[in-house]
Amino acid sequence: MSEFDYDLFVIGGGSGGVRAARIAAQHGASVAIAEEYRYGGTCVIRGCVPKKLMVYASQFTEHFEDAAGFGWTVGETSFDWPRFIERKDLEITRLENAYRRNLGNAGVEIHETRAVLTGPHTVRLESHQREVSARHILIAVGGTPFIPDFEGSEHVITSDEIFHLPEFPKRVMIVGGGYIACEFACILNGMGAEVTQVYRGEQILRGFDGEVRGFVHEEMQKKGVKITLNANVERVEKQGDGLLVTLTDGQTCLVDQALYATGRVPKTDGLGLESAGIKTGRNGEIIVDQWSQTSCPSVFAVGDVTNRVNLTPVAIREGHAFADTVFGGQQVSADHSLIATAVFTQPEIGTVGMSEEQALAELGQGGVEIYSARFRPMLHTLSGRDEKVLMKLVVAKEARTVLGVHIVGHGAGELIQALGIAVKMGATKEDFDRTVAVHPTAAEELVTMRTPTR
Ligand code: NDP
Repeated sequence: MSEFDYDLFVIGGGSGGVRAARIAAQHGASVAIAEEYRYGGTCVIRGCVPKKLMVYASQFTEHFEDAAGFGWTVGETSFDWPRFIERKDLEITRLENAYRRNLGNAGVEIHETRAVLTGPHTVRLESHQREVSARHILIAVGGTPFIPDFEGSEHVITSDEIFHLPEFPKRVMIVGGGYIACEFACILNGMGAEVTQVYRGEQILRGFDGEVRGFVHEEMQKKGVKITLNANVERVEKQGDGLLVTLTDGQTCLVDQALYATGRVPKTDGLGLESAGIKTGRNGEIIVDQWSQTSCPSVFAVGDVTNRVNLTPVAIREGHAFADTVFGGQQVSADHSLIATAVFTQPEIGTVGMSEEQALAELGQGGVEIYSARFRPMLHTLSGRDEKVLMKLVVAKEARTVLGVHIVGHGAGELIQALGIAVKMGATKEDFDRTVAVHPTAAEELVTMRTPTR
């Protein structure tokens, strides 16, 4: 008989926790998992998946308009928000059930309760009012939206609520300039709302390639999103059925909803980390080493709660690596370099590797070649839509390695997945050049740019 109830107890049924639990069980460990809300976590329940469904829903407006240029007559169209939410919820429930089924098939014991750490090897299951023990504990509780303090902050919503609004908001203010703010500005604009996005800095999407940031800003504005830079919200007041938002630059705006997308913070409040002496960082993130081990040797943490690279596929990799290392007899650590990622703005961004600014900071002015092209994609020659595509390569002048690829345009997320392989393999500009173009595509530009732009 083991001195513990389980080999592994996982707190949090999101992408990272579920993967770790399944793989550990497949390696022969006795595993239990607890989730306080719904299995699938942020990504499946109120993040990537429902967001992407919303992106699809919001793009039909343009498809209907563009069809005319190709000879189609589209009759009257209308968007039924409650119907969409109902259909989206059915899909989310299907996925949640698949997560549970996979856990069950792997032999993982599933609990629906909040679980709190009470020591290096113990966890209290709040709804069951009992304590269990485990040789190893994995914390994979993710993050939660952060709303700064300001007058009237109780009136605003976050991405958690947007997926369940009973009524479609016709006028929306979006606060923030990151992934979530930009994606929802485009979604709600596409669905027909009047959208004002407010960002405190000089340009949206801080951290991305500078040229990409400016390009996306322009394209979003062309589509109708009103972007206000260098401003923040001073206060929000109820006014009739709506909200009156006053900005720091004195502007006021009457809206139906104000959506705050000002970042997410690790969900460590009340988790009992102190009972196991687990160290956290400045933003409450659990500090871990390359094996995802915390300062308490029996406790590990993966995913957004560690605030390393806050993306679903990364949490999955971290969870898998943890399970292989601790229960599979292999030493595997998740690789956080050269991660390809997409931002589902409209147009979409796909990016991998260094931005122009990062490359210049690392290799200096003479060490970098930039190949950049902007053009009207074939689709819009007949549709008449004023929308451009951006394709950009950041190349190390001496070594010839492609350090970064940045794409803005239709299907950029799909494209960057494949380009991520080339960049990860260390492909050179000449490898790109040797590759014959696929014609007619927008992506052929990536292998036909011959003269450096700068
Ligand atoms: P981000 O960290 O990307 O952006 C937060 C934004 O809010 C920034 O523009 C930031 O400004 C601004 N901000 C922060 N604090 C304040 C404040 N007090 N007042 C005004 N503005 C403020 O967070 P998101 O919420 O957009 O997304 C959270 C995470 O979720 C992302 O880091 C990403 O990893 C993940 N995600 C990934 C997606 C994808 O892969 N497609 C989609 C959605 C989310 P500043 O730049 O000045 O700091």
